[in-house]
Parts: sequence; structure tokens; C-alpha cells
Amino acid sequence: MKVKNKGSVCVIGAGIIGATTAYALSKEGWSVTVVDSNQEAGMGASFANGAQLSYSYVEPLATPETLKKIPVWLLSRSSPIRWLPQFNWRHILWLAQFISYCNASKVKRTTKELLRISHITQMNLDSWLRDLSIAGADVSLEKTGKLVVYREASELAAVNKQIKLQKEFGCHQEIFTAEQCVEKEPSLSRIKQDIAFGVYTQSEEAVDCHALSKQILKRSDVHEIYMAEVLDFIVEGEKIKSVNTSQGEIVADQFVIAAGNDANTLLRKINRSLLIEPIKGYSVSFPIVNMDLAPNGSITDQNRKVVFARIGTTLRVAGFAEIVGRNLKLDKARIDSLVAEAERVFPGAIDPKNFSSWTGMRPASPSGVPYIENIGHKNLWVNAGHGSLGLTLSVGSAVLLVRKIEESVESRPFSIS
Ligand SMILES: Cc1cc2nc3c(=O)[nH]c(=O)nc-3n(C[C@H](O)[C@H](O)[C@H](O)COP(=O)(O)OP(=O)(O)OC[C@H]3O[C@@H](n4cnc5c(N)ncnc54)[C@H](O)[C@@H]3O)c2cc1C
Repeated sequence: MKVKNKGSVCVIGAGIIGATTAYALSKEGWSVTVVDSNQEAGMGASFANGAQLSYSYVEPLATPETLKKIPVWLLSRSSPIRWLPQFNWRHILWLAQFISYCNASKVKRTTKELLRISHITQMNLDSWLRDLSIAGADVSLEKTGKLVVYREASELAAVNKQIKLQKEFGCHQEIFTAEQCVEKEPSLSRIKQDIAFGVYTQSEEAVDCHALSKQILKRSDVHEIYMAEVLDFIVEGEKIKSVNTSQGEIVADQFVIAAGNDANTLLRKINRSLLIEPIKGYSVSFPIVNMDLAPNGSITDQNRKVVFARIGTTLRVAGFAEIVGRNLKLDKARIDSLVAEAERVFPGAIDPKNFSSWTGMRPASPSGVPYIENIGHKNLWVNAGHGSLGLTLSVGSAVLLVRKIEESVESRPFSIS
């Protein structure tokens, strides 16, 4: 028997992190309200992302190889990764920390931690969907594995090293020749000559992150409040008593900031902050017009940093990583380039004139490991900074945060079943 009515929690933010956190708390017997300034769940970075549940493919951005490429990014406008130096101390501090993580021992530590969290997602997502009566089709869940293709044979040594490292932590990944890549994904035959090798990971899945955020909240007992911006915290003694929102006050026993890139706007109200840098990306979504010519599963073009995911009858193409500050302007050249890639790799599968485009910002910590912790006040928590793996780490982060909240409430057990 679960202990019910453990108390009340207000979760700020209804992206995939807020949605999973809210449900994980509600599942454990907390009375949860989620509040978001948008009109529905999953409208921020969680809206039209790459859709990858990348349980085993968690290599962080902060690696020695990345460090070597920084000069190229600074000089090239067409590079898939762009960095525009900004002269504010927060950006400089983030960058300094990011660079400090670009060494082999830190990559090992980061990878281990990311895999720990992603595996909790992998272990729990199916049962969550079952408990909430969410069918795979409701969220376009695809369990078709992931193929990452590389164009440069010279990268094989570094890739092998990362695969070996991940194997130590229980991941099973296979190196494929170009022939094997095409065998797995016949739709790649057009670009076979460009493929040096590939990495196939059977365990990976794809899902519509926006639909998942909405469905989790809709089917659970969580109380949802939209179009309400949290403006300030009301502090009483060592605790937060309530939050002031544009729609009135919300009183609760515990508060969770799951506001992605906006976490610091809220934390600054209590003189706190975290290093979270927005890393901008783009996506285009096409209705698939010929399923036979579309990919069976997810494909990543590692050199161009482009992800192709089939989610239901949609082909999602996502890519680019730009460290250019907070800027949600759609860059036409970036969108055109994604459309051209989709047409080049999957001709006939889509109509290149019929698509919707999107840009979003990955809320990234310097290491790639999210902040899942208590902050500033006894009853204030943060779950933010998931970078390019927010969907993959969502359920795991939620479970870990609930564990921490419950451990802090001394007189109450974590869960009695
Ligand atoms: C192009 C791109 C591709 C990606 N591909 C993948 C992928 O394939 N796999 C993967 O795992 N991850 C991927 N990601 C990363 C993933 O999308 C993010 O890490 C994740 O969406 C972050 O979720 P979040 O809930 O923290 O933030 P968000 O989804 O941005 O949610 C934060 C919410 O907080 C709300 N909010 C903020 N401030 C307030 C306030 N004061 N009051 C009320 N509400 C507030 C916002 O309205 C928003 O809804 C990708 C990201 C991008 C940009």
C-alpha cells in the first residue's frame, strides 16, 4: 500500500522534465500542481526535438574531440556547431567549466552518470505508459533502434573507445560497415558511398516529446495550470511558502523548478543561479508520403550532426548546436539545409515543400549532467540543465528527484508498497 497525501508540491514548468517530475511525485502519493506560462505542456524545448530516447548513446558534448574542433566552429558559418563568444561572466564561467570537462577521465565520469539516469528512464517508461493507459500510438513511440553513421573513417578509433567505455556500463552497441548500414536501413542506399562506418544500438527508441509531456499530465492526477507565469517566491523562515503567479498565489509544501532555460530567471529571485547555457537547435517535420522510402528507425548523421526520426507518420529532422545566447529566431539557411538533407537522404519519402519548422534551445549544464538537487531553501528543488538529452533523461531525473525530496522529509518513508 502506498502512503497517500504526503503533502503538496508545486512543479514550475510543464516541459518533459516538469511533466515527468509531476507524475513521479503524484505516483508516490503527493498532491501535485504543475504551472506553466504556455498554453499547454511541452511547448518549450520539448516541443519538436529530435525525439530520441537515446538510452545508450549519451556521449556528452564536453569531450577532448570537441575541444579540438572549437577553432573550426568559430571560423565557419556553415559548421553544424556554432559558437558566438559572449562577454558576460556567466557565459565565460560556463565555458571555463565546459572546457574543464573535456578530458578522458571526466568524460568517463559524465558518461557513467548519464547512463545511470538514462537507464532509469529505460526501466520505467513502459510501465509508466501502461499505468497511465497511454498507448504507443498516442505518443508515436517507435522501438526500432538507432543507427549513427559516420563519414570519416579516421573517427573509428575515438568511436571504438567510447563504445568500449559504454560497454563497461552495460551498453550493447555494434560497429557496422557501410554495407551493414544499408542492410539495416535500405533507405540509406542513396548515400552509401558517403558512409565510412556506422554504430547500431538496438535499445534506442523514438517518441514524440510534446505528445508525451501532454499525455503524462493529462492521464495522471496532476492538477495543471497554464498561461500562468511564476513571478516570485514568498519566503517564510527557511522555507518557500508560496509562489506568486500571473494568475494568483499557489501555496505548497515543496516546490520544484523545472523551467529549463528559465530556471535562472526564477533562481535569481532568491539570489541563486546555476550554469545553464541555451544551445540552440532546429527541426523540420514532414508528413511521410511514401513509407517504403522512409527510415525504419532513427538515423543520426554524426558528421553533419543531423538526426532523422520516424515518429508515426512524420519524419522529424533535427540538428545544429549553436551557442549564441538566448535567441529563438528561425535561421532560414539552417532550415533550408535540414530540408535539403531530408530530400537528399530520403528522396520520395517526403514532399520537400510540405513541412513545419521549429527552433528550440537545449538547457545545457557544462558537463551535460543535469542539476537534480535541493537549492536555496529547505523545500525548494531544481530539475534542470538536461542539454541535448532531456527526453532521454526525463523519467530517470524525475525518479531521482522524488527520491531526494522524500529522503529530506525525514518522518516520511520513501514508499511503502
Ligand atoms: C533541436 C533539439 C533537438 C533535441 N533532440 C533531443 C533528442 O533527440 N533526445 C533528447 O533526449 N533530448 C533532445 N533535446 C533536448 C530536450 O528537448 C531538452 O533537454 C528538454 O526538452 C528540456 O526539457 P525541460 O522540461 O527542461 O525544458 P522545456 O521543455 O523548455 O520546459 C520548460 C517549461 O518551463 C516553463 N516556464 C519557464 N519559466 C516559467 C515561469 N516563470 N513560470 C511558468 N512556467 C515557466 C516554460 O514555459 C516551459 O514550458 C533536443 C533539443 C533541441 C533544441
